[in-house]
Amino acid sequence: MDPQPPHVLIFPLPLQGPINSTLKLAELLCLSGGLHVTFLVTDYIRRRLLRHTNIQTHFSRYPGFDLASIPDGLPEDHPRLGDQLTEMFDALEAVTKPLFREMLVSGTRRPPVTCVIADGILGFTIDVAKEIGMPVICLRTISPCFLWIIFCLPKLIEAGEIPFKDKDLDAPIRSVPGMEDFLRQRDLPSFCRSSELTGPIFKRYLTESIQVPRADGVILNSFEDLEGPLLSHIHTQCPNLYTIGPLHAHLKSRLSIEKSLSSFRSTSFREEDRSCLSWLDQQPSKSVIYVSFGSLATMTWDQFTEFWHGLMNSGKQFLWVIRPDSIAGKDGESHIFTKLREDSTGRGYIVGWAPQEEVLSHESVAAFFTHSGWNSTLESICEGVPMICWPYFVDQQVNGRFVGEVWKLGLDMKDTCDRFIIEKMVRDLMEDRRDEFLRSADHMANLARQSVGEGGVSRRNLDRLIEDVRSMSL
Ligand code: UDP
Repeated sequence: MDPQPPHVLIFPLPLQGPINSTLKLAELLCLSGGLHVTFLVTDYIRRRLLRHTNIQTHFSRYPGFDLASIPDGLPEDHPRLGDQLTEMFDALEAVTKPLFREMLVSGTRRPPVTCVIADGILGFTIDVAKEIGMPVICLRTISPCFLWIIFCLPKLIEAGEIPFKDKDLDAPIRSVPGMEDFLRQRDLPSFCRSSELTGPIFKRYLTESIQVPRADGVILNSFEDLEGPLLSHIHTQCPNLYTIGPLHAHLKSRLSIEKSLSSFRSTSFREEDRSCLSWLDQQPSKSVIYVSFGSLATMTWDQFTEFWHGLMNSGKQFLWVIRPDSIAGKDGESHIFTKLREDSTGRGYIVGWAPQEEVLSHESVAAFFTHSGWNSTLESICEGVPMICWPYFVDQQVNGRFVGEVWKLGLDMKDTCDRFIIEKMVRDLMEDRRDEFLRSADHMANLARQSVGEGGVSRRNLDRLIEDVRSMSL
C-alpha cells in the first residue's frame, strides 16, 4: 500500500499576532516541504483574511494548501479583545472543540489529515489529537522566555514567590532557573500580580504548562543565538523542540531563493494606511521613531496624553499607530487624530494601522516604541531597530526585561507612563546612547539572518520538522 501523503492541519490562536506568524509557518511547510496543509481558522478570522488580504490568490500557487474555518461560538460584534478574551477561550472550548474533533474523526478532508500543529494555548487540540491517536505538535507564538516562566509556575507557587508577598515590584524572583540574576516581580506575566491565583487567565496558563509537554513536539518562533541556555531549560520539559524562527524572516529568506515567487502582501485584518511609507520616504535617514502597541493593547486618555507630550518634547519625528480602539473610551473618535495630526506640525504622522514589517525595514526608522508583543519584538530584532518597551500583558513584561537587560537592545519603560521619562528615553535611544544600541541591534539582526539562511540552525530545524512530519504520516 502506498504511504499516505503527509497532510498537516494547522490551528492557530485566532488573534492577529499568532495568525501572522502561523501563516508564515504554513507557507514554509508548503514551500520547503511540499506538504498538504489545511489552515483552520475561525469563521470570524476567515472573513477578515478574505476581506483584507490576498490570501486566496497568494496561496493558489500551492495546490496542497486549503483555508478552512469553523465557528468560534461568539457573536460577530464581540470585541475579542482585552478582558473579553477570556470569553473567547471559553467559547472555543465549548463550541469549537467538538467541531474540531468531528473534523478530525470524520476523516472528510482529502488526503486524510496525518498530523495536527496547533497553538499550545489551545490545550483542547492536544486532548483531541491524543484521544484519536493522531500526532500533535504545538506551536508557541509567544516568546520562549515566557514559555519557560509558564513551565515554572508550579515551582513559583511552591516557593511562595507568587502570589507576591512583597509590595515592591522590584523584589527579585529566584525560582525560574536561568533567570535568577535579573528577574523581578514586575517582569512576571501581569496576571501574577493578582493577590489570588484563581483568575481564568492564570488557570489557563497553568494548564498549558501541563498540556504542552504532552505534545509530540514543540515549535518555537525564535532562534538559538537569541535564546542561549534558556532552550536547554525548556528542553527538560519538551525534549523534541523545533526552534525555527524568526518565522517571518525565515519565509522571506526562502522566498528570495525562489525568485519567481512574490511574498504575501499583508496578513493584517485591518486596512493598512500605506501613506505612512511615502511620509517616511521624505524623512532623513534614521530620524524617525515608530510607535505601535500591536493589535490588542489599549491605553487610557491620560497615558495617551503623556505619550503625546513626551514624543513632541523629544524633538524627534514619529510615526504613531493609533487604532480606532486604542484609547479606552474614545472608540472611533477619528476627529481627535485628525486634529493631532495637524497639531504635530509635521513632526508626527498618525495612522490607524501600518504595514509594520515594511515600516521597520524603512531607512528612515531609527527606533521602535513597542508594547513588546513577540511578533513585534522579532520584527524589530530582524531589522536591527532598537526598542523602548512599554509592555501591556501576557509575555510582554518578560520580553521587555530581556530586551533591556539581557539582549541590551533597548530600554524597558514598563509600569511608568510619564512625559519626562518618555522624552528622556527617546533621546537616549536616538541620540545619547544611539551607537551602543545600534551596535547590539546590528549584531543580533545578523545572527537572526544567519539562523534562517543556508546552513543556519533554524533552517536545519525546519528541515528536521518536515522530515518528522513525513515519518509521523507513515
Ligand atoms: N502590526 C501591523 N501593523 C500595525 C501594528 C501591528 O502589521 O500597525 C502587526 C505586527 O507586524 C505584528 C502583529 O501585528 O506582526 C502584532 O503582533 P504582536 O505579537 O507584536 O502583538 P499583539 O498584537 O499580538 O499584541
